Amino acid sequence: MRIPLTLAACGALAAAFLAVAQPSRPIQTFDTSAGPLKITPIYHASVLIQAAGKAIYLDPAKPADLSGLPKADLILITDIHGDHMDPASIAALAKPSTEIMAPPAVAKTVTAAATLSNGETKNWNGITIEAIPMYNIQRGPAPGKLFHDKGRGNGYVLTYGGKRFYFSGDTENIPEMRALKNIDVAFVCMNLPYTMPPDEAAAAVKAFRPKVAIPYHYRGSDLAVFRKGLAGTGVEVRELDWYPTSSAPAK
Ligand code: ZN
Repeated sequence: MRIPLTLAACGALAAAFLAVAQPSRPIQTFDTSAGPLKITPIYHASVLIQAAGKAIYLDPAKPADLSGLPKADLILITDIHGDHMDPASIAALAKPSTEIMAPPAVAKTVTAAATLSNGETKNWNGITIEAIPMYNIQRGPAPGKLFHDKGRGNGYVLTYGGKRFYFSGDTENIPEMRALKNIDVAFVCMNLPYTMPPDEAAAAVKAFRPKVAIPYHYRGSDLAVFRKGLAGTGVEVRELDWYPTSSAPAK
């Protein structure tokens, strides 16, 4: 039987629509001495971390598609910008027992948050959470201004079952990042004008040599440059799709 061309085209469109309506989420599973830790890339800077039977979100924010995801036991927020701090997404994931940790600048808006400043550490259900500085050194919206002032936002290192997971937040190639030790998996931002270009991100990663580096928050960046910058260093670069086409563009 011959299928009319228009119908065939519709079928292809429907298949394409189905494909984008259910974004594939390439879950990353890491073995630790306390059991597996799973990381799901959601969108841009939004991450789901699952360990010890708990669901931890980092920077859940629009336009991330949160459908089908578990409610949050803990929400970590890095900074005040809309792609990191989004009260509507927090509300969508919250249940009565949800805890929130954030830097003081975020807690002014997200008033339920317990505050964690750069350099502070909290233990939460067997997971150690360290707040790491994240800031611009040179880039800002106008001369003398920076997109991210030192001390305002937090990157985070989570330690679970002997493995250490770093989430950079929005930062340039700062000394505190270069000085990180024993990082197993590093989620590293790169995008201009707000953070840093991929060659600078690679230089920063080269300094602290995680076992695995995963670019995130990279809209508009050439990941091939990042990969090339780390070639031969022994750092495994793992590219995940943080921009499923079913979600609208982030700011
Ligand atoms: Zn951002």
